[in-house]
Amino acid sequence: MIEDVIIIGSGPAAHTAGIYLGRAKRNPLMFEGFMAGGIAAGGQLTTTDSIENFPGFANGISGGDLMEQMREQSLNNSARILTETVSSVDLSKKPFTLTLESGESAEAKSIIVATGATAKVLDIPGSKEFWQKGISACAVCDGALPIFRNKVIAVVGGGDTAMEEAEFLSKFASEVVLIHRRDKFRASHVLQERIKSNPKIKIMWNSIPVELKGSKFLESAVLQDTVNGEQKSLEVSGLFYAIGHKPNTDFLGGQLKLNEQGFIITEPGSTKTNVEGVFAAGDVQNPHRRQAVIAAGSGCLAALECEEWLSLNSERAW
Ligand code: FAD
Ligand code: NDP
Repeated sequence: MIEDVIIIGSGPAAHTAGIYLGRAKRNPLMFEGFMAGGIAAGGQLTTTDSIENFPGFANGISGGDLMEQMREQSLNNSARILTETVSSVDLSKKPFTLTLESGESAEAKSIIVATGATAKVLDIPGSKEFWQKGISACAVCDGALPIFRNKVIAVVGGGDTAMEEAEFLSKFASEVVLIHRRDKFRASHVLQERIKSNPKIKIMWNSIPVELKGSKFLESAVLQDTVNGEQKSLEVSGLFYAIGHKPNTDFLGGQLKLNEQGFIITEPGSTKTNVEGVFAAGDVQNPHRRQAVIAAGSGCLAALECEEWLSLNSERAW
């Protein structure tokens, strides 16, 4: 059987696409992944307790509950969901073929790739233990939490994201310590200047955290000088990684155009990829502003563009 559309992924982008295509009577099939990219089905939001900026939840909602609701809404709108990870695709001919980790395969007229991205973190002692207990990778998501108010917070990285995170956090923290492994930022000049003139932000050049310590929550970081190897302790209540994201695009085997960090390139203002009939939505095609509501919006756009494409190609011999 050739599916009209297969959605790969399980975050807000995938489920929004599932809801719209289900309502359009396309009977979408979704492969939600089984610990794909190291994250449970439901995507990145399943790794956080509190979502306070997704519209519709006046008192916030846990990431797990929000994704459970989205999954149920997809099912209620007749999406079919299989807990399988897509290991490879063949986009060279239509219908497209998808191979699953179980060894099974599936065919589809169109595909929506919504496999998200994973924040890079440092594999150092304490990093896993204090994840979401002082350690985060998203200032906009977690920065306003009470545990960070008027406390010293560290940001690790030297790119545009690190600059933006540090500036955002300086609104809540007593001090932000920006830790960078070199003596030069790679961030744009304008963002660097804003950081350097912000009295609440202190820069620690040539430094990397090598251990994170605490009891219940993060309390301090051991920093190592990258030039002379000296170590010192810094008291911090929060540490935000801003060392880049890894988009989940390896399984595409280079068949879609990617930017240099591996994010899928789509046509401006659209979710269309360089392969006709393949659409990309959510963080996997968004290198800059990764937020759940943006991912959901692009999942909606992907569904509408996919539905239009399927209608225009309804006469095609598959
Ligand atoms: P993702 O959520 O990244 O989900 C994609 C999922 O698809 C993957 O996780 C995996 O389960 C599955 N998958 C991957 N590869 C495959 C494959 N080959 N086959 C099958 N399935 C696959 N945003 C906010 O707006 N508010 C917040 O408060 C907020 N808090 C956050 C807290 C944390 C700790 C993190 C990490 C992010 C947070 N974000 C927040 C950002 C938000 O989570 C993302 O922008 C959003 O989840 C992106 O959605 P997505 O649909 O693109 O995919
Ligand atoms: P980048 O890859 O640009 O920067 C990552 C930073 O983390 C670098 O400074 C890098 O150091 C550092 N880093 C990487 N790995 C490690 C490690 N293992 N230990 C310590 N430090 C590490 O990622 P960003 O998320 O900052 O930006 C991604 C893209 O998004 C860029 O193109 C950026 O321009 C864009 N962006 C644009 C924004 C805007 O225009 N307002 C806002 C946010 C992002 P080093 O420099 O030594 O390599």
